[in-house]
Amino acid sequence: MKSLWSDADALSYVARYAPAGVNRDLALRVYTTRLLGGDPRLVLHGGGNTSCKTTVTDLVGEAVEVLCVKGSGWDMGDIEPAGLPAVRLHPLLKLRQLECLSDEDMVDFQRGNLMTSSSPNPSVETLLHAFLPHKFIDHTHSTAVLSLTDQPNGEEICREVYGAAMGYVPYIMPGFALAKKAAEVFEQDRSVQGLILIKHGIFTFGETAREAYDRMIAMVTLAEQRLERGRKSLVQAKGLPQTPAALAEVAPVLRGLLALDRGDGAFGRWLLDFRTSPAIRAYVDGAEIGRYSQQGVVTPDHTIRTKNWPVVLPAPEAGKIEAWAKAAEAAIAAFETRYHAYFARNNQRLSGVKTELDPMPRVALVPGLGLFGIGASAAAAAIAADIAVNTVESVTDAEAIGSFEPVAEADLFDLEYWSLEQAKLGKGAEKPFARQVAVVTGGGSGIGAATARAFAKEGAEVVVLDRDPDAAQAVAKACGGKALGLACDVTDTAAIRAAFDRVVEHFGGVDVVVSNAGAAWQGPVGEVDDAVLRQSFELNFFAHQAVAQNAVRVMKAQGTGGVLLFNASKQSVNPGKNFGPYGLPKAATLFLMKQYALDHGKDGIRSNAVNADRIRSGLLTDQMIASRSQARGLSEKDYMAGNLLGREVTAADVADAFVWLARAAKVSACTITVDGGNIEASLR
Ligand code: ZN
Repeated sequence: MKSLWSDADALSYVARYAPAGVNRDLALRVYTTRLLGGDPRLVLHGGGNTSCKTTVTDLVGEAVEVLCVKGSGWDMGDIEPAGLPAVRLHPLLKLRQLECLSDEDMVDFQRGNLMTSSSPNPSVETLLHAFLPHKFIDHTHSTAVLSLTDQPNGEEICREVYGAAMGYVPYIMPGFALAKKAAEVFEQDRSVQGLILIKHGIFTFGETAREAYDRMIAMVTLAEQRLERGRKSLVQAKGLPQTPAALAEVAPVLRGLLALDRGDGAFGRWLLDFRTSPAIRAYVDGAEIGRYSQQGVVTPDHTIRTKNWPVVLPAPEAGKIEAWAKAAEAAIAAFETRYHAYFARNNQRLSGVKTELDPMPRVALVPGLGLFGIGASAAAAAIAADIAVNTVESVTDAEAIGSFEPVAEADLFDLEYWSLEQAKLGKGAEKPFARQVAVVTGGGSGIGAATARAFAKEGAEVVVLDRDPDAAQAVAKACGGKALGLACDVTDTAAIRAAFDRVVEHFGGVDVVVSNAGAAWQGPVGEVDDAVLRQSFELNFFAHQAVAQNAVRVMKAQGTGGVLLFNASKQSVNPGKNFGPYGLPKAATLFLMKQYALDHGKDGIRSNAVNADRIRSGLLTDQMIASRSQARGLSEKDYMAGNLLGREVTAADVADAFVWLARAAKVSACTITVDGGNIEASLR
């Protein structure tokens, strides 16, 4: 591992933060924290932390010695000075005289000694940083170091590699007891450059930011060099299918099998994040995957993101997806049974005080294919997948030099069911469309863009399909999160299929589809060119049918229902003069909506439409508004507000109706009119 330290960069951090009153120590602390946090082989999603001891001036001008230590909720890769809250050092040091200290009291005491009361909670490893005397302290969960320590004889291997350069701390759960133990180990030999925390990670320290950082890189490099020697590779399983099933076929089936049935047609769905590579394939295709993947996590704080073990699924073969689904269902059921037993066993040890978490896996290993991260959001699924990929590397290396053995089950349980984590349960209700994937066609502008944004705001993972890829991506970006913007011409059935495959590969499935793309053609019906009518039918009817068919295919594979929403127009119920080429296919689409409701209600799929009129959009351009209002002798404002309420109807108003229809669990075959009131277009 290479040191990325640069004097010029270090000075630029000092210069950058000086105007904000950030001192040199903290500026350099931010710099090397980011260097460490930028490498997933060192730090992954909140694992690891850093600190520096420095002096700040309080409001009345008195100098105070503080520990600036990583705060929770900050990522080391892009940390700012505010992410390293300052805690008064002397009160922290006094805690060392205590025999024991509960996690809640520790957190409360740390908060009470913050220099700025609005700071995030200091790391749970704050006291470990405080009790060591060094000015700069770095802590990572280095993949290579974990490959060495996560062995039956992990400490022995580490002693061979590091000798007296490091101290060795046995596994203790993070918190007060670990902090005291680490300080004791250091005090036995004050010449050490750092500490190896067996089956947890590594600390290095120094008098300067550079010294602590360079020592981290040097120690990790020694671990990497050890892992190069005497390697054996994973033995591959025999009899894997010649042609594995496609990811797009497997993902929705898996997503459906994982969904928690909440009754009355409601499901606790999951998002999936698929990863594969030659290294992942070597791991999941290994003959002994059932052993090395089921030992536990490489460092205990991964438990909260991935649970202790992944579920190992059978290898899916092309053309045999139904048989695979059965076998996968059995594997998931066995996982749940094992999880319940693990909870019961350990909760009994703790006198039954804990509340069981959901029993579903957060990582699925699929021989012949790769691995899936599983999460309640796309972001959580990505974190689980990132950790799983890192685990593949660490365990593969551990197996290459020995056999992977992490901490024992009871220690894993104590972390997964940590009181500080349990305290968060039930707080923060999910948004209505959390865990759901919403696809919007024609989502690059107008009603489609407003609808995509509305679903994103309600918590959905959003996919924006549009003919214009730039428009699709711009709206997806505005939706935030992992939203996807894809080019798709909905009059091309192959393009629709490809787009749905991409969506399923990206998120695992589809729950809500808003078939919105459309365009208006005009002409007196007795004279209009046949080609114009057919062109309009392609976009305003057949495209809706192709989009809905793809949606139903995926929804049926999931088996957790779904919602189809169509953008019908006022034309579908109330023909406008010379608008036959537009109204005829729209009328057919309104009927299509009812047919889907009728034919697929048994699959839990609801089908609804919004009948909107006079919305500023690609269909009704500014130019058209100008000419129409002129023709009626109205101002543009009066023309747009020409409805019973006398108010202009916006794309956002239509989007609200789509969102409502998607939420209304018992509403199907329904059309909602959003036009400010137009008695000719009202439904009867
Ligand atoms: Zn740690």
